[in-house]
Amino acid sequence: MKLGMMFRDVSTSLLRRPVTEKYPFERREPPDRLRGKLIWNPEACIGCGLCEKDCPAHAIEVFVVDREEKRFVLTYHPDRCTFCAQCVISCRHGCLELSNQEWELAALNRSPFTIHYGNENDVQLVLAEQSLSDDSKAEIDRD
Ligand code: SF4
Ligand code: SF4
Repeated sequence: MKLGMMFRDVSTSLLRRPVTEKYPFERREPPDRLRGKLIWNPEACIGCGLCEKDCPAHAIEVFVVDREEKRFVLTYHPDRCTFCAQCVISCRHGCLELSNQEWELAALNRSPFTIHYGNENDVQLVLAEQSLSDDSKAEIDRD
């Protein structure tokens, strides 16, 4: 590059506004089709488990607490999710969507990577059952 051209480029750049975005202090509106965190709408869910079965990343678990009363818990692991949207396609009841608003999913510890959707009491029931089954697995391992 010739010296004259270099000076011209430098002086032009000095007069321009920076193109670097000041994220996270300034944010753009995310694109409509951005695939962020999986959101579950329990209203139409029938607990069929298709989303869990079809998820290639094992990022979803569906627990049926009471099918007749339509009490289900859906556990989502964003750290396993590849945002492929297969679960959204598989759900015939339109209960799942990948949010274009909730996409900042990085964290400094693992706790935000297990999300339990559902009624709080049902979630506690599922967690208690899981902890019981973990205990019995540990017993079997010791035997
Ligand atoms: S978007 Fe893909 S990887 Fe994520 S939960 Fe749905 S099916 Fe699984
Ligand atoms: S596929 Fe849809 S209806 Fe079936 S368990 Fe998943 S969210 Fe519920």
